[in-house]
Amino acid sequence: MPATTIDQGAAGRSRRLFVARFFYEGNSFGPLLADRDAFERHEWTHGEEAVRAAAGTILELAALPLFRKRHPGWALVVSRCAAAIPSGPIADEVFDVFLAEVLDDLDAALRAGPVDAIYLSLHGAAMTESRAHPDLDLVEAIRARCPDLPLAATFDMHANLHPRLASLLTIATGYRTHPHVDMRDVAERVLERLVACVEGGLTTAGYIENTGLLLPSINMRTSDGPMRRLQEAAAQAEAQEGVLAASIFGGFPYADAAHSGASALVFSAAAQDPDGVLARAVAGRLARQLHAARGDFFVSLPSPAEGIGRALASGTPGLIGVTDAADNPYSGGAADTPGLLAALLDAAPDVPCVFASFADARVVAEARRAGLEAPFDVSLGASHGTAFGAPVAVRVVARRFTDGRYRGTAGLLDGADVQLGDTVLLAITDKPNIRIIVTSRVDPCIDLAFYQLHGIDLAGERLLLVKGKNHFRAAAGRLCAEIIDVDAPGPACLDFTRLPYRHRSPQPG
Ligand SMILES: [Zn+2]
Repeated sequence: MPATTIDQGAAGRSRRLFVARFFYEGNSFGPLLADRDAFERHEWTHGEEAVRAAAGTILELAALPLFRKRHPGWALVVSRCAAAIPSGPIADEVFDVFLAEVLDDLDAALRAGPVDAIYLSLHGAAMTESRAHPDLDLVEAIRARCPDLPLAATFDMHANLHPRLASLLTIATGYRTHPHVDMRDVAERVLERLVACVEGGLTTAGYIENTGLLLPSINMRTSDGPMRRLQEAAAQAEAQEGVLAASIFGGFPYADAAHSGASALVFSAAAQDPDGVLARAVAGRLARQLHAARGDFFVSLPSPAEGIGRALASGTPGLIGVTDAADNPYSGGAADTPGLLAALLDAAPDVPCVFASFADARVVAEARRAGLEAPFDVSLGASHGTAFGAPVAVRVVARRFTDGRYRGTAGLLDGADVQLGDTVLLAITDKPNIRIIVTSRVDPCIDLAFYQLHGIDLAGERLLLVKGKNHFRAAAGRLCAEIIDVDAPGPACLDFTRLPYRHRSPQPG
């Protein structure tokens, strides 16, 4: 499908902005490839459909309807917009199809008339089976076709920025917040800069200093802590005379690539900074601040056994959450690592416990064959390999089957229709107070409605063992009187030295 000029024929729209989006964070150690289905389930839109889908949200593309209102002289040409929940690397075919389609659309747009500027909504930490930096590949391919056109990009705070991007892009910026609530705002800012390039003759100089630091995100919120201080420093730098954009990126450490790492990106106005000296100096200063803050990002977490022991010894009344971020689906986990469950079974507590969750369609099918309340033997976890521990053998009964459909009620999933595939609630036969949810598809178990679907009232539970992190805290985690984070083996574990990096040698925190 060729990208059509959405506002074609609209009176007075004589300038054209070409837009595409590729938003994906790839975990090299995640066992599941992100295939076409993963993107189609999440975001695989084109043209007006892409603008409509984002309208009213806080996503980058929600800046487009606002741009259209603010700049009646501009028409939008929106090509493919693609995003998926973080997982392992992307299947090569998905990105190849995306890239070919965007370039075809761009060629068609250029044939149809002048294109004045290009905006790319990127994450910046994508990887495919064979491409280490597809984000850079996209920018390079577009730059090769349009050597002189103003070309802008926005990046997630967890982008791993390849330094070459600075000379290819005219202007770029990143989020100031984590959790990311300013995605639309940064897109608005960068679009205004693009307009200034086209209509005001603004030219720029850019510089990226990538520190190569691999930083965990567990202590990277911007409400307080080291990333708040760094983002304040970036905002101050951006207010400096001659600086157009100054951003700090925490990077995504689970992308095993030479260019992964926290970075600083600065664009200056070429009129005041013709040789880019200012951009380099400011980026260098921000990078030094990143180096100085490194130690503050590393926190020490208990093992699963220690964390569960602490939870059981706690005098706090109510629900206690024990979170295993190493297998968090939002960080590339596949809801498959066995460490937390193994520790729970070893502890054999007598209080009501819910474990959420494993994603394994085979287990759900076995439970179906056994039927409700009929004991059967099953192995849980490590279905994609034993890199993070051996599967746990248990005798269980199925307590409840569901079709895995629910509507999210809070946080990131608010209003979203979630489809987990068939699911089952299992109970350990000789420890029926321990119940385990198994789904067919990988999806975060952060929402209250997820638990209600399985007949679980969290108010009546004592321990909730969950594969999650920040988004869990913002949703079902709010019911917890106390939350204990643990570090278990998994593709997003805090101790990077446990992971089989091939392109990096991470230092212990
Ligand atoms: Zn992010």
